Amino acid sequence: MDNEFTLQEHEKGTYFKLPAFKRIRHAFCTRAGETGALEALGGTPERLLTLRQVHGAEVLVVNDDTRALALALPQPYDAVVTEKKNIALGIWTADCLPILMADRTKKVIAAVHAGWRGIWSGVIERTVAEMTRSFQSAPADIWAGIGPGIGPCCYEVKEDVVSLFRNAYAAADQFIQEREGKTYLDLRGAARLELTQAGIPLANIAAVNLCTSCRQDLFFSYRRENNAGRQLSFILLK
Ligand SMILES: [Zn+2]
Repeated sequence: MDNEFTLQEHEKGTYFKLPAFKRIRHAFCTRAGETGALEALGGTPERLLTLRQVHGAEVLVVNDDTRALALALPQPYDAVVTEKKNIALGIWTADCLPILMADRTKKVIAAVHAGWRGIWSGVIERTVAEMTRSFQSAPADIWAGIGPGIGPCCYEVKEDVVSLFRNAYAAADQFIQEREGKTYLDLRGAARLELTQAGIPLANIAAVNLCTSCRQDLFFSYRRENNAGRQLSFILLK
């Protein structure tokens, strides 16, 4: 898909957005930081909810501002769903995929931290299921945006990961690539498959198709830099 994403310039940092999301406020920030995007989209650091991410598949449902915010701190979650306005749902990444979702009909949003372990554990499917269960979203109404993460160009994986994916997916060949005796995982391809299996139409899925490891100019990368910083992605209902 052409023009799947655009770069927004702000004096306090550039960020990417997806035209497909239309008026839903969202940003995939770069290593230049999140201040500019939060400012431009009417968010504040005080109203930014981020998670203690552990590469798991637990989904936090934010029904009540303060209680959920307090609860979120000690417990690990890798996805969050809400219909509350003025709370930016944020995910930190440095190679894993940030995935943002929005149901414009029911006005529900979600943010997901999706590395190989989270995807394999079902975090994407569980997030869509929670949007359906808690807020009556129809998967056909959900739009999903896959943010910048490590690409199949750089994401070499070992045999243990490969066999987990081959055992879990009949279509694993779509996102496992062999080159010169090494094996590479296409996380974005796996995420797309999970999203469509959860009922989201392929036409509702867009991606920032950039590799965090290749694009040192734009992104932190855990693989490339080891103790790298992380970039924020967030989504916000107004
Ligand atoms: Zn790459």
